[in-house]
Amino acid sequence: PGTLHVVATPIGNLGDLSPRALETLRNVAAVCAEDTRHTRQLLAHFGLERPLLALHQHNEDAQAAQLVARLLGGESLALVSDAGTPLVSDPGFRVVRAARAAGIRVSPVPGACAAIAALSVAGLPSDRFVFEGFLPAKASARRERLARLVSEPRTLIFYESAHRIDEALDDMAAAFGDDRPVVLARELTKLFETVLDGPLSEVRGKVATDANQRKGEFVVMVEGAGDDADAQVTEGRRLYAKLVEHLK
Ligand code: SAM
Repeated sequence: PGTLHVVATPIGNLGDLSPRALETLRNVAAVCAEDTRHTRQLLAHFGLERPLLALHQHNEDAQAAQLVARLLGGESLALVSDAGTPLVSDPGFRVVRAARAAGIRVSPVPGACAAIAALSVAGLPSDRFVFEGFLPAKASARRERLARLVSEPRTLIFYESAHRIDEALDDMAAAFGDDRPVVLARELTKLFETVLDGPLSEVRGKVATDANQRKGEFVVMVEGAGDDADAQVTEGRRLYAKLVEHLK
C-alpha cells in the first residue's frame, strides 16, 4: 500500500514550507486539500502542478473510504489544509483514522502550526498547555465553555477570527477577571505580526480602541489559574454561584 503523508503548509510566510514538504508534494499521486483553489495557488508558487482532491467537513466520511481504497491500491497521497497543520482546527481527522484502521502508514511532514508558533513567543508557562481551538460562536455556549476553564491551571490556547476577537476578549475578562495575564498573537509570520501582552483588561482595551489591532488572524493565550489562594477563592465563588443557581 501507499503512504498517507500529512503535510503542514505555511500560516502566512511561504518561506515556511519545508524542502521535505515540497519534495513530498512533488512525489505523491494526488494532494487532498481543504480548498483546492487555495492549494493550487500554493503549489503554483513553487512551480508544482499536482492532481488535487477536495476534502472538507461535509464530504470527509465519503472521501475517506475512497482515499483508503487508493492508498490500498498502492498510491501515496498527501493531505494538506489551507494553512498550518492539518487536523488542528482543520479537516483530516476522519481520513487519518480510516487510513490507520486500514493498516496504512500515515507519516507527518511537520511544519507551521499557529498555536505552537504563538506559544513559542508568548512567554507564558509552556511546560503544560491546553489547546481549546475555536470557542463556540453562540454567546451563551461561549460563556459556558469559558466558565468551565476558570480554574484550569495550564496555559490556555484559543483560535479566534477578526470578527469575534472583541467579544471573545470581553467574555474572557468576565470569566477570568480583568487581571488575568493574556497574550494576543496576531498575523504571525506576516507583515503585520503583532504580539500584545498584559492583563486582560489592558489588552482588551488596546484591541477595542485600535481598529488595526482587530484585523487578521489571532491566537489568544491565557495564563493558567495557578493553585494559589486567589484561585481557590475564585473556584469557591464559582461553585457557590452554581449551587445557588441549582437551588433556585
Ligand atoms: N491548522 C491551522 C494551524 O495549524 O494553526 C489552524 C487552522 S484554523 C481554521 C485558522 C485559525 O488559526 C485562525 O482563525 C487563527 O486563530 C489561527 N491562525 C492561523 N494562521 C495564523 C497566523 N498567521 N497568526 C495568528 N493566528 C493564526
